[in-house]
This record gives sequence, C-alpha cells and structure tokens, in this order.
Amino acid sequence: KAKSNGRNGFEFFSADMREQAQARMQLLKDLRSAIELKQFELFYQPIVNLSDLHIHKAEGLIRWQHPEKGLISPIAFIPLAEETRQINALGQFVFGQALETLNDIKKLTSSEFQISVNVSPVQLSTLDSGIDDWPNMLKAAKLPASSIVAEITEGLMVNPEALTQTRLKTLVQSGMQLALDDFGTGYSSLAYLQEMDTDYLKIDKRFVDNITQGSQELALCEAIIVMAHQLGLKVIAEGIETELQMQLLLAAGCDYGQGYLFSKPLNKSRFMALLADKKMIISI
Ligand code: C2E
Ligand code: MG
Ligand code: MG
Ligand code: MG
Repeated sequence: KAKSNGRNGFEFFSADMREQAQARMQLLKDLRSAIELKQFELFYQPIVNLSDLHIHKAEGLIRWQHPEKGLISPIAFIPLAEETRQINALGQFVFGQALETLNDIKKLTSSEFQISVNVSPVQLSTLDSGIDDWPNMLKAAKLPASSIVAEITEGLMVNPEALTQTRLKTLVQSGMQLALDDFGTGYSSLAYLQEMDTDYLKIDKRFVDNITQGSQELALCEAIIVMAHQLGLKVIAEGIETELQMQLLLAAGCDYGQGYLFSKPLNKSRFMALLADKKMIISI
C-alpha cells in the first residue's frame, strides 16, 4: 500500500519496517538474559471439575515481567523464544517451577493434583532440550509422573517427526499425561489422538465464546465431547467466562472447565492462597 504512494510513501514504509525490525532485535536481546535476571514467572490458572467445582488441576502459564515494557504476553515472546531455541531453557524453567508448586500443594491436600505445562514443538524436536530428563526430575522430586500433563497443539499431531513421536511416547510411557490444546483450531488426526494415548482434549476458547442455547458452537462442542469420550479422553473447555457457558457445557457432558468465570491465571502466592482459602473448591 505504502509502496504505491511513490517515493515518500516508500521511505515511510521502510522506516516503519526498520523500526519493527529493531524492536524485534531488542526483544530478542532482552530475552537472552531474562531467565538469569529472573524476569519470568509461572502463573497458575485453576481447572475445575464442572460437576462439583473442585480444583484438582491447574495450567501453568508463563509471564515475562520486562523492566521497561512491563508484562509481555507469551503470545508475543514464545515465537521469538522458539526461533532462538531459548524455549528449551524456558521450558525447563517452567517444568522446575511446576514441580516445586506440586510439592507445595502436597502440604495442603492429600488428593492428587495435576499441573499442565505447555510444551512447544521445538522442545520435542531439539535433541538436548532437556525434556528427556523430565521423568527423572519427577522421580527426584518424589512426585508421580501423572502429576504432570504436557499440553501440545494439534500441529504436532499432524505428521510429527520421528524424534518427536518417539519422545512423546517415552514421556507417556513414563506415566506423564497428554492434553491436546486448542482443539478445533487446526487439523487433528483422530488416529494420532489414540496412537499418542492422549488423556485430555481442550476445546478452544473460540467455540466456548459463542456457545448459546441451540447454537452451532454448542452442537459442535456436544459432538466433540461425545467423540472424545468414545476415545477415552476427558474434555476441558477453555475460556469459560459466563455461568451460561458453564451450564451448557456441563449439560453437554464436558468434564472440566477453565476460564475467568472461575479464576484468572494467578501468581504462585495468590494461587496457593486460593487453594488454601477455598479448600480446593471454587466459588462463583
Ligand atoms: P493456551 O495454552 O491455550 O492458554 C490459554 C490462554 O487463555 C491463556 O493465555 C489464558 O490466560 C487465557 N484464558 C484462560 N481463560 C480465559 C478466559 O476466560 N478469557 C480470556 N479472554 N482468556 C482466557 P496466556 O496466558 O496469554 O497464554 C497464551 C498462550 O501462550 C497459551 O495458550 C500457550 O499457547 C502459550 N504459553 C503460555 N505459557 C507457555 C509456556 O510456558 N510455554 C509455551 N511453550 N507456551 C506457553
Ligand atoms: Mg495450554
Ligand atoms: Mg496415558
Ligand atoms: Mg488453549
């Protein structure tokens, strides 16, 4: 568009592009030191059992507190971290934090708790990403392997590399569980859902957003839930914001829910306080 505006337009356009490229380079540079400078923090969003509102699970979500730019969304920096493979170190940080938190939760409750962590395809395709140590790290932390759920996206299910497939299988064989994140946004192979022994299917927020009585989205959710259950998977609905969405999903047979209706992602101390105060049951 700018190009067709002649000479000035073109210069304007390229200056803009240069600025963007510079901002990106700066962010890449800042990212490099962010782990050491302890600028990352793992937040936790409760996942509730829709039938009794018990909290037995949470998702770990990374946050970057940038000294000048403030809180930066993972949407903005995860792709950069993937490009530079720093996602591997970040992934190890996230996993370590999840283990610590699981051990702290053990002091609050005797029932089993699960924390899910988002796993980037890069972590699975990089040889020395550290992900192969996870079963040993779990043992060293004296935690059952099933206390961690690895969230992977549909992209990984379509034509995964041999290495990715073998590693996922090894992790699953060690007892770790698998969740398919953002279901419905890509192209999933049902065959892979079974082949990978997936435990959870997470219905993407975009479907939950538009759920009303008699809507297409509700029909779609109902179909997904029936299919998932038939394959032996539990279903988690993401992005539940209203009580109506919750009720319709519950009636559709959905097992778990996650969303602002129950709680936003919380930093560790607020999350621990929520678990302790509410005795592991959320009130809405
Ligand atoms: P995701 O794994 O699908 O996580 C769910 C996102 O939905 C989170 O955004 C969460 O805060 C948001 N969310 C949950 N409930 C609601 C709701 O009721 N309303 C609205 N509007 N949003 C809701 P967040 O934390 O910004 O994370 C975005 C994405 O970044 C995640 O999507 C995940 O793909 C990625 N991500 C986050 N942490 C990590 C990480 O540690 N490693 C990797 N590889 N990716 C991560
Ligand atoms: Mg996720
Ligand atoms: Mg399994
Ligand atoms: Mg998701």
